[in-house]
Amino acid sequence: MCPEAGLAELYGNRGACKGSFLLPCSGIFVRREKVKNSIAESMAFFASKEFDADFRYDGKDLGAGCRDNSTVFRAWSPFAEKLELRLYRDGTAKEAFLVKEMQAEEKGIWRLEFPESLHGMYYDYLVWTDGKAVRTADPYAVGCSCNGGRSMVVDLRKTDPAGFESDQAPAACEERIIYELHIKDFSYDVQSGIPQAYRGKYKAFTVPGETGWYPTGMEYLKKLGITYVHLLPFFDYGSVDEAGDDGQFNWGYDPVNYNVPEGSYATDTKDGTVRIRECKEMIQALHKNGIRVIMDVVYNHTHQEDSWLQRMAPGYYYRYREDGSLANGSACGNDIAAGRSMVDNYIADSVMYWAREYHIDGFRFDLMGLLTVELMNRIQGELDEAFGKGEKLLYGEPWSADDSPMEKGTKAAQKRNAGYLHDGIGIFSDDTRDAIKGSVFYAEEPGFVNGGEGLEKAILHAVAGWKNGGAAFEPRSCSQIVNYVSAHDNFTLWDKLVLSMHGEEADFDRQYGDVLAANKLAAFIYFTCQGNVFFQAGEEFGRTKHGEDNSYCSGPEINMLQWRRTIEYGELVDYYRGLIRLRKKLPGLCDKTPAAAERIMDGKIHGEGVVSFRIDNRASRPSPWEELFIVYNASDREWNVRMPEQEVRSFKESGETDQAVWEILADGSEADCCREAEFTEEGIPVAPHSGVLLGRRKGM
Ligand code: CA
Repeated sequence: MCPEAGLAELYGNRGACKGSFLLPCSGIFVRREKVKNSIAESMAFFASKEFDADFRYDGKDLGAGCRDNSTVFRAWSPFAEKLELRLYRDGTAKEAFLVKEMQAEEKGIWRLEFPESLHGMYYDYLVWTDGKAVRTADPYAVGCSCNGGRSMVVDLRKTDPAGFESDQAPAACEERIIYELHIKDFSYDVQSGIPQAYRGKYKAFTVPGETGWYPTGMEYLKKLGITYVHLLPFFDYGSVDEAGDDGQFNWGYDPVNYNVPEGSYATDTKDGTVRIRECKEMIQALHKNGIRVIMDVVYNHTHQEDSWLQRMAPGYYYRYREDGSLANGSACGNDIAAGRSMVDNYIADSVMYWAREYHIDGFRFDLMGLLTVELMNRIQGELDEAFGKGEKLLYGEPWSADDSPMEKGTKAAQKRNAGYLHDGIGIFSDDTRDAIKGSVFYAEEPGFVNGGEGLEKAILHAVAGWKNGGAAFEPRSCSQIVNYVSAHDNFTLWDKLVLSMHGEEADFDRQYGDVLAANKLAAFIYFTCQGNVFFQAGEEFGRTKHGEDNSYCSGPEINMLQWRRTIEYGELVDYYRGLIRLRKKLPGLCDKTPAAAERIMDGKIHGEGVVSFRIDNRASRPSPWEELFIVYNASDREWNVRMPEQEVRSFKESGETDQAVWEILADGSEADCCREAEFTEEGIPVAPHSGVLLGRRKGM
């Protein structure tokens, strides 16, 4: 999660006031001679009505607005005595060709207007406080120089690829099947068949992979059937040198310029418009292929404390402890102070900007537990109002790495507060994840599918989206639950299963039969839980990082998708593909209303590692099956599981024949099949380490 210290040259002149805020006794200088003498006093002031009355600015025009005949610079810097704008003809020019003092306005705003388009010019600001100047780029900038140290004036309409004006997300699909992908991972492998110049870049999404005989790249995604791609951070981050070589790698959880796409995924970093255009081309290509796009956003901390936000308003954007040290609930050295008015405005405006300008369809919030319930609900409300209810998806990690001093009167967007979150805001379910495959922290600790004991109850709770109070929280609706067993953090599913089932000496490249079965059962389980489906790219072909559980900067070779595995593990890929197709067909599993939990009935534990339940599959949209019956058998032997007696009765009462035809729609070897179930005297046979999903055909 936490990046290495970045490029020293990125930030340039850190400025003469270095550290002045950080000493508890030094006081902060606030315009209009308001001086606070302690950190506690400052923190209270930042969250006060008094502060808001003087400095809260709700305009949506901060940054450099550029049109044909005008460019307007607006900056929010409430404690400065003077702001100067400096203009450069390119991103690396040593000298500014123009330095001009800005006009102070109300609410801490500084403004400067030019009666011409300055599209393509670069700029920064000198923030003067207490007679000393600090250089900063613009935190509201929409463009930047290579490595992001200087901002760029951009007329955004000039960055649209052909046809972007009419680009639209594909219509809302039957189900949210979310595929977590890193842009570089997607195409870095030579065997992706993506042209070399585009490998690891935004552009890789716009061309077919030419392998000759197996689908890769976009063709593969389409064939897999996923409905959302969730892309790891692609705002401008600081841990990769954009002027450096292609062998660098980072997940990108270290924001520098929040409203600018990352440059290392662009084919040219010298011209700041290229990254914008190519990022839009990627999104446009995904949309054209029927896939919606989710952006991973990291508003809980910045690449380093000495950020543009900090330089614009020292101390305001971060949480400090009373001793003057930075709060560190993010484990990345600084926590953004969500809960203060201008911090919340910044985050909400940034989300709205990506949704509007880049047509992003959803946002995944890193360490959402450091943000507030109030802010998350506000963002959902603004998105719903602008784009239609539920059109944009929000979900996040409902936890933090450590405690953080939240603003008084706010609620942390943590799991325990799920019931206060809007029912459209999802939370990753670590409870589901750990029940299925075991702890993410202890490699050897198993879950339900790989030998864990006493997990039957937890599995039945997971099935019902934890709505029945099975864990230490109560969601408002199953629609809030994001079901998953692997993501970029921690071991891949394959590695976790290999380690827990074969020990540390195991060979990650060997196709163990028992691991394959456990992998299938794990997928079978979370694909039949209420909520949303999420998986890490490559989980469907046994993705391995050879036991590496934190590969954030491990190099592209260990991180990239290895496309030959889609062939080697073709059986597993087909199984996932089948589960995806099947899930979309079953309204009883796609239900995102608060009533979804009530569809789950007759949860039963038959023995160690064996559970079953029924799902009411009736819905307004037609489905051939009215009822579903599901069994998970994680034990070592075959089980014959009886259908619930009361169920047989209800068929009779409804006037239907008791010769109801039950069809097998999935079992341990095939998903999305359809063949008549054959019952024995004892019930339906379920093979060891597998599941079975039966559907009762309507009207038979
Ligand atoms: Ca960057």
